[in-house]
Amino acid sequence: MQESVKSRIAPTPSGYLHIGNAFNFLLTTLLVDSMKGQLHLRIDDFDSSRLKRKAVEDIFIQLEWLGIEYDSGPTGPDELYSKYSQQLRKDYYFDAIEILKRDKHLYACECSRSKIRQLSPKKIYPGTCRNKNISLQKKNITWRIHVPNETFLKYRTLINCTEIIKVDDSIGDFVIKRRDDLPAYQIISLMDDLENGINLIVRGQDLLASSGAQLFLARCLKRNIFLSSRFVHHQLIKNNLGEKLSKRFGDLSLKVLNEKNYSPTFVFRETAKLLNLPFHEIITIDHLKESFKIAINKKKS
Ligand SMILES: [Zn+2]
Repeated sequence: MQESVKSRIAPTPSGYLHIGNAFNFLLTTLLVDSMKGQLHLRIDDFDSSRLKRKAVEDIFIQLEWLGIEYDSGPTGPDELYSKYSQQLRKDYYFDAIEILKRDKHLYACECSRSKIRQLSPKKIYPGTCRNKNISLQKKNITWRIHVPNETFLKYRTLINCTEIIKVDDSIGDFVIKRRDDLPAYQIISLMDDLENGINLIVRGQDLLASSGAQLFLARCLKRNIFLSSRFVHHQLIKNNLGEKLSKRFGDLSLKVLNEKNYSPTFVFRETAKLLNLPFHEIITIDHLKESFKIAINKKKS
């Protein structure tokens, strides 16, 4: 029996969506469509200090503009705030954190951001506070998880190959509870994916280390189902200067494309080019889906 596939798109409403987000959403949609799977919309709104209501509205506007349909998740801002918001689910994240604490995976870290930058040119925290026995009850600290040396984790790729990631080298002892007492991204992402039954995760190559972190967390929490998820880490769209696109490049936001009366065809063709699909005849999202399916079937035969 073929396993049923469920994936998700997970925008963060801290700024307007850009063409890099669109590529990720479209690739996820194409994969789900070609595998007759389901798509969930998750909005990463747990950090209320970064949340912008206009950006929440923008998500729904642009998904509609692109013609991306999903099977579960909020249908609009009101439903997000009343039913799906991560801010309604803090207890759920803290239950998981409590298990990690109980099982002695966590320690308190009082290093400031600037100190960590100094100590770790590779951006990997060197474990400075690991053996200091600082009380977890202390104020103004972060809680980190101890990732032992030589932590190798396997994960499945789309085509059922196995890749290995060395978690201690790729992310090190990462943050579980932030200085502002909010649960950190890794635990939120994992717990939401578990709750939503996600088994296909499509994200940029820049989040490979996060995949390792979440696999490690799942193992610590004995949520082994996550360890059989499939992962796709795709290329990132660069701007003309070769920099990764992010929300600070507002001029490439979908909102601006929209306002300049671009047709979504432009985005579909850009996506097709990145995926090495023939793009001249693509006008609608259905053309893009068709072209993707043909390419996949060719590869299989
Ligand atoms: Zn520290």
